[in-house]
Amino acid sequence: MEFATKAIHVGQDPDPTTGATIVPIYATSTYTQPAPGQHLGFDYSRSINPTRVALERCLASLENATHGLAFASGMAATSAVLNLLSAGDHVVVTDDLYGGTFRLFDKVLARYGLEFTYVDAAELENVERAMRKNTRMIWIETPTNPLMKIVDITATASLARAWEAVLAVDNTFATPYLQNPLDLGADVVVHSTTKYIGGHSDAIGGFVATARDDLHQTIKFHQNAVGGVPGPFDSYLTLRGVKTLALRMREHEKNARAVATFLSARSDIEQVYYPGLPGHPAHQLAKRQMRGFGGMLSFIATGGPERAKRIAKATKVFSLAESLGGVESLICHPVSMTHGAIPKEIREARGVHDALLRLSVGIEAEDDILGDLDQALKT
Ligand SMILES: *Cc1c(COP(=O)(O)O)cnc(C)c1O
Repeated sequence: MEFATKAIHVGQDPDPTTGATIVPIYATSTYTQPAPGQHLGFDYSRSINPTRVALERCLASLENATHGLAFASGMAATSAVLNLLSAGDHVVVTDDLYGGTFRLFDKVLARYGLEFTYVDAAELENVERAMRKNTRMIWIETPTNPLMKIVDITATASLARAWEAVLAVDNTFATPYLQNPLDLGADVVVHSTTKYIGGHSDAIGGFVATARDDLHQTIKFHQNAVGGVPGPFDSYLTLRGVKTLALRMREHEKNARAVATFLSARSDIEQVYYPGLPGHPAHQLAKRQMRGFGGMLSFIATGGPERAKRIAKATKVFSLAESLGGVESLICHPVSMTHGAIPKEIREARGVHDALLRLSVGIEAEDDILGDLDQALKT
């Protein structure tokens, strides 16, 4: 089955009791058992819920995984993957990453005795140099956030294997439509389904996929033991959203390419970060490991942080908001919004400048999107 078909059908057979074509919202915390110890596969909804199971099967199929686990948020999913580790273990992490992931690693998990080293993983030597005897995991995002660098998943996976470390890839930006990290050798894929997978900015959720039974068993154990599961209503919304992922990603990409081309041609734009531009340093790698370049891009306009803030305020089609991946276009000033949790010195050392603006290009009409940027850039 192809991607668009799987998104609509896998895990979503008609309901056996009523024939309901759409997976029902099973709003129940518990299940009546015919006799003690003889439940029908469902006992308690923290452990298992039919609406959630449908979502897990569908998303696992999209990542070509054998197992999938849904969580209450992307951060709950990330945290469940880090539960694979124990005090004293070391993790090598892409330095250009989601601010909340940095906060979880730096402020929460470091207190439990995990050690983190942040490197520019777009250069494999940096990852290699950071590996230690106790390195048990490499954690990457690609494309990275917000600088849109590309990390070579295949090469990083070989390195991880040589060190017997787990390679985890946060695939939120690319989505399974454009990139399948497990096929490239990664061990675990993580998503914030809040973004493109849900796609309508109306539900928070997270997801973990793997083809390794051992990792799945441990993460599943933690899903139940820690309990960060999504409810049936959010599972339903995410499942409804994912049905159109293929359609939406094609539009996001078309519009993002148009925006990247439009911005690159202007003399009042200093830099455009989009892997689809032939001038992007890893354009060829992106072409190899992805099936498209996605809907996210960042740019720096002339005029410094003050003009950046004026532009962010002047857009009308683009809402000034955190998050990404919904049908509506969003503009974000990472330094005062998504990446505010990262200290200024660290941020600047990583190239996240005060004047940087990030766009999540939506699926409105291309002319309206370009027209809005054009008028906002007049400020
Ligand atoms: C949003 C996001 C997260 C966190 O997900 P939540 O659903 O907000 O908890 C993690 N990684 C990336 C790349 C994200 O964009």
